[in-house]
Amino acid sequence: MNNKVSPLKQAVSAFKKAIGPHRYGVHGEPFVCQLCGHDRFKFGTGAKILGLFWLACAECGHVELFAQRPPFLDDRGA
Ligand SMILES: [Zn+2]
Repeated sequence: MNNKVSPLKQAVSAFKKAIGPHRYGVHGEPFVCQLCGHDRFKFGTGAKILGLFWLACAECGHVELFAQRPPFLDDRGA
């Protein structure tokens, strides 16, 4: 028996990373949670509620609504 991580587990981990909390912002300025100051948000892919887009703070769960899809900030240099 060997103990190496299964390809499936690796794929799940990569997938979670890909859909995990990201930074969003406008004009390169990161958008931060107004309650806790965290800068990582979960974006509901295609989640439109009454025509609004939403971001949920990865730290405290505070939800912010946007009329347009908020720009995604690249993680480079973070
Ligand atoms: Zn927060």
